[in-house]
This record gives sequence, C-alpha cells and structure tokens, in this order.
Amino acid sequence: MKFRNFKMVDYVVYGSGCFDQLGEILAPRRKGDAPMIFFVDEYFQDKQAFLSRIPLQGKDKVVVIDVTYEPKTVTVDKIRDELKAEFGEVSGIIGIGGGSVMDMAKAVALMMTNPGSSADYQGWDLVKFPGVYKVGIPTISGTGAEVSRTCVLTGPTRKLGMNSDFTPFDQIVLDPSLTQTVEPNQRFYTAMDCFIHCVESLTGTYLNAFSQSYGEKAQELCEEIFLEKDTWDDDCDEKLMMASYAGGMSIAYSQVGVAHAVSYGLAYLLGTKHGIGNCIVFDKLEEFYPDGVKKFKEMVKKHNIDIPQGITKGLTDEQFDTMINVSLGMAPLWENALGKDWKEIMTRERLRKLYERL
Ligand code: NAD
Ligand code: ZN
Repeated sequence: MKFRNFKMVDYVVYGSGCFDQLGEILAPRRKGDAPMIFFVDEYFQDKQAFLSRIPLQGKDKVVVIDVTYEPKTVTVDKIRDELKAEFGEVSGIIGIGGGSVMDMAKAVALMMTNPGSSADYQGWDLVKFPGVYKVGIPTISGTGAEVSRTCVLTGPTRKLGMNSDFTPFDQIVLDPSLTQTVEPNQRFYTAMDCFIHCVESLTGTYLNAFSQSYGEKAQELCEEIFLEKDTWDDDCDEKLMMASYAGGMSIAYSQVGVAHAVSYGLAYLLGTKHGIGNCIVFDKLEEFYPDGVKKFKEMVKKHNIDIPQGITKGLTDEQFDTMINVSLGMAPLWENALGKDWKEIMTRERLRKLYERL
C-alpha cells in the first residue's frame, strides 16, 4: 500500500481528574467474571491514596511492574503465562505508568491471544490476532507510547517493537494530574524524548503536512514550558501531556532519526534508558540538528539538568561494533534523517567516532 493506513487509538478521555472515570469506562468491557488486570508502575506500589482510586471489582488484580529495566520479551511471556495460569481469560489489561508500563500492557494484552513468545512478533505486522482489550494511562509524559502502534521490547537478539495494527490501545486516559509527582530530572529526560521526536520528524525527509502539524505544535509546547516558564505548575503538566500525544502522532506518520538510531545501540549494549539515552546522544548532534540541539542545550542549562558524559569510554572494538550494528540496522530512521543515500553519509567509521564522543 502506497499510503499508510494508520490505525489509531479508539477512545481518548482527557482532563485533570479524569482517572476517576475509569470504573465507568471499563464497566461495558467486562466479560462475565473475567478480571481486569491493572499494571501499575512500581512508583505507586506504596501510594495507598492512589491505589484506592483503582476501580477494582471481583477477581481484578493489580500487578506491580518493575521498571528497573525496560520491557523484555521474557518478562512479557512470564506475566502472560502467570495470568493464563491464574485466570484463564481476562477482560482487559490497563497499563498505568510511563512508556515502560504502557508498552508492557500492550505486549501482554497481545500475547494473551497470540501463541508462542513475544520475541516471535518483534518486527512489522507479525502479530496475527487482536489482543485483549487494553487501556493506556500515562503517569509521566513524553514517549508518545500512548498513541503509537508499537511496544518496544528487548528480546534475545534485538531491541524492536511489536509494530502492528493490533498494538494501539483501545482506550487512553490522559489525566495530567497523575504526572505531578515525577522527579524533575526524570521529567526532563522523558519530555526530551518528545522534543527529540519533533525535531527528528520536522527535519526528516519523510516529513508531510500531517506530521508537521502535530510536530510543530508539540515542539512549541515543549519550548513554552521549558524555555518560557520560570516555575513548573499544573499548566505545564497539562501541556506536556498534550505535547507527548502530538509528538507521538507526528512520528506515527513520519519517522524518528539520528538520536533514536544511535541511542538504540546504547540501550542494547549498555541498557541505557530511552529518555536519558536520547539526551546523551542528542547533546552531540549539532551537525545534524543545529537548531534543535541549540534549544536543547538552553533547556538543559535553564533546568540545571545533568547529562551524563563519557559513557562509552573504555569499551572494546567488539562492543562498539555491536552498537554500530544495532544502530545501522534501523534503516528507516537513517533514511528519514539523511535521505536515500544515508549509507554513504553515515559510514561505520563516522558512527564509531560519534559513539566515542558520548
Ligand atoms: P519509564 O516508564 O521507565 O518511567 C521512568 C521513571 O519514572 C520510572 O522510574 C518510574 O517509576 C517513574 N514514574 C512514572 N510515573 C511517575 C509518577 N507519576 N511519579 C513519580 N515517578 C514516576 O520511562 P519513560 O521514559 O516514560 O518510558 C521509557 C520506555 O518507553 C522505554 O522502554 C522505551 O522503549 C519506551 N518507549 C516506547 C515508545 C512507543 O512508541 N511504544 C516510544 C518511546 C519510548
Ligand atoms: Zn523516543
């Protein structure tokens, strides 16, 4: 198909406090006594005031998701096996957390109905059957995972998402008040994922008016809250949540670029997390994104953020090769960033030099 026929999230509810409408939203989706399973970011595990707002009924269960590592295919398979053993069928999976928990929710929801291991479905359009009903509820803003058609997983041989028309959530609940407790450095790293999505989309060769409209708005919102405002308030949480949504919509119809391609290599080899990894790489990409990097550096300075340096120091040739292989494997990202001749522009030697600077 020449034009991408983009499958979107079915339902969106937005507004401060809208989380409390979740019970009503889930009611018609309950199938007999099959439970709703709530995946909750570990940050909330001892926050009783929050946990008591989860609309539990009957056999419903809260599963605390450990976010020390980004989602792995083995963990997805294990949680799926445990849920199947305990309940047989479930009515739905609700992911409450950041990109890690939302991706975990998408992946497990798909694996409840698809045979085998989630590693078998890392790639494009490999998922065979629709998953169970799934809901995404971000509690930190920036990744755009709430709107995307992928859930990024680290598997035995690669870090790659389950990209499919079955992957987007059936429902998302955008309640900016849930993000109030995010620690400022973490908030910045994840927010910059959104800012970088915008820069990569807006300067890419895949750009079109659809992506541009969302990307420009999302970038404008990021700049307003991180460069123009002097204190963080509820308005910032609201705007950042919508920036994340719009940034996700922007890349849905284009692609990300150099920062993501390079940071995937870091994540694969060193386990560097997505938000901070993108910041570490983007900080050194002035030759590719001069305006974006200049603004990024202003934001880092204004918010007094620590961007780690020297993380590839002392790595072996073999380790650099691993990162280069993972990175150059992301062909669409490079093509979007540098055009059809990207292989001549981004040679292994040039990429090695870039990795050495991180
Ligand atoms: P994350 O989900 O790992 O969360 C970051 C930290 O914030 C965690 O320590 C978490 O406990 C904490 N946190 C979350 N909500 C909080 C709250 N309300 N108060 C206090 N602390 C809170 O990080 P992330 O940056 O949101 O997501 C990164 C993940 O998203 C990666 O696995 C990446 O691959 C994935 N991702 C997916 C997509 C997609 O389209 N599916 C896009 C980009 C990134
Ligand atoms: Zn990203």
